[in-house]
Amino acid sequence: MTAWIEQWHHDITPVVDLPLPRELEHPACMTRHTLPGIQRRIRQRYPRASAQDCCTYHRQDWTLASETAIRLLAAAHAEGLTGEPAGDRVSELVTAEGLGAEDRHAVACLVTTVDPIMLGDDGDINEGRHRIQAMIDQGVTRTVVLRLVLLDPATGLAT
Ligand SMILES: [Zn+2]
Repeated sequence: MTAWIEQWHHDITPVVDLPLPRELEHPACMTRHTLPGIQRRIRQRYPRASAQDCCTYHRQDWTLASETAIRLLAAAHAEGLTGEPAGDRVSELVTAEGLGAEDRHAVACLVTTVDPIMLGDDGDINEGRHRIQAMIDQGVTRTVVLRLVLLDPATGLAT
């Protein structure tokens, strides 16, 4: 067995470019999403006026979390860090942002490799369907998606 080298990338991605989440079994506010894709895209352009207080996904301000994550990622990159170390650095930097615990957690979950938003090889959502749905409902414009590239340790090339 070859031990591949894991190389993580942070892709700043427009939310409209993400696949629409499917098969959400909870919470109730998301299972009721039976709108066809086009209507959900319209929802993204014209998000609900008021914040939804129905669940932890909708209570989170994902524009704040995404934009903070993107800004702090740039700071980490400026320090010469990339990939997993850059994500870990963001979760350190965010403690100086004056945010609440839930906002700090939301930022960290976008940039670290513990529980990131990821797409599968088939282009569908691998992790983070609920967060993406909440972002669509809130009209969030862009967020951070993690991508894992496996490198052959002998050649250093992607597999
Ligand atoms: Zn909800």
